[in-house]
Amino acid sequence: MPHGRLTAVYDEVVARNPGEEEFHQAVREVLENLGPVVDKHADLADAEILRRLCEPERQIIFRVPWADDDGRPQLNRGFRVEFSSALGPYKGGLRFHPSVYLGIVKFLGFEQIFKNSLTGLAIGGAKGGSDFDPKGRSDAEVMRFCQSFMTELHRHLGEHTDVPAGDTGVGQREIGYLFGQYKRLTNRYESGVLTGKGLTWGGSRVRTEATGYGLVFFVDEILRASGNSFEGRKVVVSGSGNVAVHAIQKVHQLGGRVIACSDSAGYVVDEDGIDLDLLRDVKEERRGRVSDYAEERGGNARFVQDWPIWSVPCDVALPCATQNELDEAGAKQLAGNGCGVVAEGANMPTTPDAIRLLREAGVTFAPGKAANAGGVATSALEMQQNAARDTWTFEHTEEKLAGIMHSVHERCLETAEEYGSPGDYVAGANIGGFLRVADAMAALGLV
Ligand code: GLU
Repeated sequence: MPHGRLTAVYDEVVARNPGEEEFHQAVREVLENLGPVVDKHADLADAEILRRLCEPERQIIFRVPWADDDGRPQLNRGFRVEFSSALGPYKGGLRFHPSVYLGIVKFLGFEQIFKNSLTGLAIGGAKGGSDFDPKGRSDAEVMRFCQSFMTELHRHLGEHTDVPAGDTGVGQREIGYLFGQYKRLTNRYESGVLTGKGLTWGGSRVRTEATGYGLVFFVDEILRASGNSFEGRKVVVSGSGNVAVHAIQKVHQLGGRVIACSDSAGYVVDEDGIDLDLLRDVKEERRGRVSDYAEERGGNARFVQDWPIWSVPCDVALPCATQNELDEAGAKQLAGNGCGVVAEGANMPTTPDAIRLLREAGVTFAPGKAANAGGVATSALEMQQNAARDTWTFEHTEEKLAGIMHSVHERCLETAEEYGSPGDYVAGANIGGFLRVADAMAALGLV
């Protein structure tokens, strides 16, 4: 790291948070880019502000007891890390996945601060979740788990305090059960306390599609900046969940062709372009696998029982599955096969070594805190509609989302230029996100 001040903060984070490797990685990535801010605005990149920014305002860890369908007691652990409220109420999703522990929630919460700042909207940063695995659980089990989770968490939430949403393993079904329990416990129809709601109970149009659509709008901005477009381009998307599905849909609408996607068992290559209706039917309706897709699609589609997906040649790669899924070997394959743009739909899916390799090879790299900000931005639009007791049309909401992604892109490029790294989206996102939060923190005093 270029400055002693930044190294000292990083060393302190590692010492104070032992074993939380994903969190260390996320902090390092931001601090590494703040050298030019220390040079230019020593007041904002002040050591005290940096130290406080890396320490969550509040961390909640709680027991989640629930009964399975056979009446047997089960136990999970729940988390909510309320990281920063300098810009607005804590905002960020909940992840239900067996890999969840404090280090993952903290990395996600930390990233969320800068992502939310980049949107230009009034939202602070947070994340939460549980090591609960919804896979293979019945609806009734998921409901009982969500009710127990909210029974503890509700006392920490509020439309002006902390507003969770979904993330991996938490979709509209889970948000519904969580909202139902919150409403029952508080006796308040407080729509703005959760986002990602269904349309009949306070949700926003485009929220489901927003992360995937926003990602593709962001890549479209990158391509346009060099006089290009999606027209005729081959795209590889990892994952086949909510972000991946809507990224595929928008790429096809903009004239590109998604030729591969994946799940935890392997990937499917379909040179004719992924048939989105079939993929959604398999994944969303039947909760099946991409191998089922390949079998039913027939023709040129083939399933490869291997991981990862990055050996498939493409012009644009969109990692939309999970953290650290694209490593150095994958980056080498992508660059070697002529891929021009990698943009993160998931949070931190690319390892630091892979990012370095891509950039050295001249591949444009867009970090998730900028490229996938469309999800949380549309959550903020949902909060606006809830506050005004209003509902917007699909067209109006999508237009707003496209406008926000345009301005996130501008903010990245302008900031990168101003701080001496023209065209560097990583520097632009980290510095741009940091400046807004640091400015508010400096104004609010020692809190
Ligand atoms: N989990 C999403 C993210 O990583 C969305 C969070 C939200 O809408 O609050 O940004």
